[in-house]
Amino acid sequence: MGVSSAQKRSLSSTSCDTRFDDLTRVLYATDASIYRVAPGAVAFPADPEKCAAVVRAAAQSGLGITPRGAGTGLTGGALGEGLVVDLARHLWEVRSFDPEGRTIEVGAGVILDELNRVLEPHDLWFGPDVATSSRATLGGMIANNSSGAHAPVYGTTADHVEALEVVLADGSTAWVGRGRDGFEGLRTQSEEVVRRHRREIERRLPANLVKRRPGYDFQRFLSDPSDLAGLMAGSEGTLGIITTAILRVVPLPRRRGLGVVFFRLVSDAMQAMMELVSLEPAAVEHLDRLVFDQSRGRLAFAAARSFLRLDEKPCESLLLVEFFDEADDRLSELVGLGIGERCVICADEGERELVWHLRRAGLSLVTSCVGPAKPMTIIEDSCVRPRDLAAYVAGMEGILESLGLEASFYGHAASGLLHVRPTLDLHRVEMSPGCVRWLSRSPIWCVNSTGLSPVNMASVWPVPSFWRIISVLTSRRRWGISRKSSTRAAS
Ligand SMILES: Cc1cc2nc3c(=O)[nH]c(=O)nc-3n(C[C@H](O)[C@H](O)[C@H](O)COP(=O)(O)OP(=O)(O)OC[C@H]3O[C@@H](n4cnc5c(N)ncnc54)[C@H](O)[C@@H]3O)c2cc1C
Repeated sequence: MGVSSAQKRSLSSTSCDTRFDDLTRVLYATDASIYRVAPGAVAFPADPEKCAAVVRAAAQSGLGITPRGAGTGLTGGALGEGLVVDLARHLWEVRSFDPEGRTIEVGAGVILDELNRVLEPHDLWFGPDVATSSRATLGGMIANNSSGAHAPVYGTTADHVEALEVVLADGSTAWVGRGRDGFEGLRTQSEEVVRRHRREIERRLPANLVKRRPGYDFQRFLSDPSDLAGLMAGSEGTLGIITTAILRVVPLPRRRGLGVVFFRLVSDAMQAMMELVSLEPAAVEHLDRLVFDQSRGRLAFAAARSFLRLDEKPCESLLLVEFFDEADDRLSELVGLGIGERCVICADEGERELVWHLRRAGLSLVTSCVGPAKPMTIIEDSCVRPRDLAAYVAGMEGILESLGLEASFYGHAASGLLHVRPTLDLHRVEMSPGCVRWLSRSPIWCVNSTGLSPVNMASVWPVPSFWRIISVLTSRRRWGISRKSSTRAAS
């Protein structure tokens, strides 16, 4: 859908660089999800003022607004029919670094690896480490409340946000966060609504999840209602656009140690998690055969495969277990546990990097499966309590088996978050009734596990019951900025 000439005039009248040509619209019609939605226009604000101007013009002319960082989100959150606002092109300035106070101010478009390059000489880094660190922007990370393998130590991005500069749908701009109360009226109203529904929120959102992201984090907001940034983080661009952020940074670990434990079955690895948790690892990442089989015959992974002896000693599943600081003692304890079929300890940074390289490439490896059937991103980021992981995987395997589907389970085992990728052939139009029934139950699990996340749930599959649930939830949003498309087309 394009924009009308009146809308085009309105957007063009602002000082913000805005494009309407087909090439730009096609380039912004996809992200890392399975969806394709062409925007009517794409804006490239050079500063927060220009962002506010174009947002105001879009809202006044009735256009939906979708902020976008690097477009690496897996759920189509950066796609929208109206105006897409690209924060990554210009807002990549790093400024006001206070090494003593461990805070830093960044533009929303700063890429995580770039930020860490600035911090590293000071023995600091940004804690949450998304696997897409070479592309993901801090704005996208905050909006998705992203986290990575080391979530057991660092939590999620929201835990490291001090303050945010935010543009709302009417173009008003202010700072929110610790000691900053730019939208006081809105904050008070939000607090009142959230408090009124406190009991229901507590009933529906399970406690003790290491990664609860994205989604409106009402519990975080309730724990500190003076901090509106806690509600912005994880709101996936639906409440406002983040143009600048003040972040807290943390010391680099003094020492790191990595062990790899190999298992005969995925379920054995999940059971072993119970024992591993007692060692307080900084990260436990799971890879299954579907992932590392894809690395066979590829030069980039030959050294890792040979180091892990994947050809001589095949296995179904492996856990990467990382420790910080007192790493050597902990690695000895890991070996002492005697779990799995065998255990390999990385001797140095070179060996650690070989293994982490394989893990980081996990998703790309899965999606590069040859043939029409691919492991699909349709149950994304559902998260359970780590102690429930074994039961969750067993339940999932049971359902998939009854449907005759194979799936890959990989991801952040220590945080109870596995990416579950059933292998589906999307070129086949018709799906079995059993499959549709199963898919239509999936968003319920997502609500229960990750929170009230309209975009995240939308990722599961566009069958009518999803949209009914989503429309009920989104109709309760009171101050949304983004009108995400409800007619996403699977690409
Ligand atoms: C291979 C692969 C591995 C991944 N691994 C991880 C992982 O380990 N951990 C993890 O958390 N995620 C992971 N992801 C998902 C994704 O990379 C992260 O969520 C990332 O932080 C998104 O950043 P982005 O800049 O690409 O955001 P985008 O995809 O551009 O946007 C994500 C959401 O944020 C909103 N948004 C973007 N910028 C702003 C802004 N400035 N203001 C307000 N809203 C905004 C968008 O509207 C959208 O809803 C992975 C994705 C891929 C493809």
